[in-house]
Amino acid sequence: MKIGFIGLGNMGAPMAQNLLKAGHDLTVYDLSETALAQLNGAGAKIAQSAVELSSIPGMEVIITMLPASQHVRSVYLNQGGILEVVAKDVLLIDCSTIDPQTAREVAKAALSKGNPMLDAPVSGGTGGAEAGTLTFMVGGAKKDFERAQTILTTMGKNIVYCGDSGNGQVAKVANNMLLGISMVATAEAMSLGVSLGMDPKVLAGIINTSSGRCWSSEIYNPYPGVVENAPASRAYSGGFGVDLMLKDLSLATEAAKFAKQPVILGAVTQQLYQLFSSQGNGKLDFSSIINLQNK
Ligand code: NAD
Repeated sequence: MKIGFIGLGNMGAPMAQNLLKAGHDLTVYDLSETALAQLNGAGAKIAQSAVELSSIPGMEVIITMLPASQHVRSVYLNQGGILEVVAKDVLLIDCSTIDPQTAREVAKAALSKGNPMLDAPVSGGTGGAEAGTLTFMVGGAKKDFERAQTILTTMGKNIVYCGDSGNGQVAKVANNMLLGISMVATAEAMSLGVSLGMDPKVLAGIINTSSGRCWSSEIYNPYPGVVENAPASRAYSGGFGVDLMLKDLSLATEAAKFAKQPVILGAVTQQLYQLFSSQGNGKLDFSSIINLQNK
């Protein structure tokens, strides 16, 4: 297929590489010359702007993987954006993590120009992007979801239809809010047990065969040395950064404000991550939040 890809960062670059490996005819655009040169070396064509990429004759699908809502708005809606020039019926897929309202607004604008659009945020991190094992949470019309299947399965393993436009983002923020809360709760329980004299491994073993068990306690325990290959056991390097978790928690609390839905633990967790990030920990793995609570 003839595919355009905009946003070649930590996630976008390996996703684009997987499309190339599958034999697609790929044209890419990013603000970074280095990112463009790398993809060019791997066989992608380069565009000098979003407009140039979007006006390529015969383009079938355009995928975007951008940092946040404002970048998605500008790349799609601003002067010099995709919607200014893209041909009718080209399928637009935004894989960025953004707020559901912006996703719905941009999809509505796209549809009014004759372009179906899907929001398809991912989970699985950079490892999943490289391995082509991402989970895609997809919102939009079912027929457009079906049209996107071949492409999404090239970059991911679980492709889940979440319902109408924006619902992919809804699924993503709800899940990541729960992850943030469960990480803080696990950190609190582990710190309490150890400060009262328990061995952390024994305590984790009990939690993980009891009712306190969750992904944060079992696979990604925040206490150093409990799970050998978790970021906690390598000084909280790699993994999913504090600032990325803070971004997702902030999207959740903003979306909750819009819906007038109380998210009390989500809001407290957002504030804990904001405090921890402001203390200079933004680049550490998000399980390092345990150090906020250590005496
Ligand atoms: P990143 O900052 O590494 O990459 C973003 C890329 O977009 C950069 O290369 C940047 O130059 C480019 N860009 C920004 N504005 C642009 C514009 N106007 N035109 C063209 N290119 C532009 O970010 P990332 O880590 O790849 O994350 C991308 C998205 O995926 C984010 O929404 C993030 O929340 C989400 N996400 C990230 C992870 C992760 O582990 N990194 C996991 C899941 C979801």
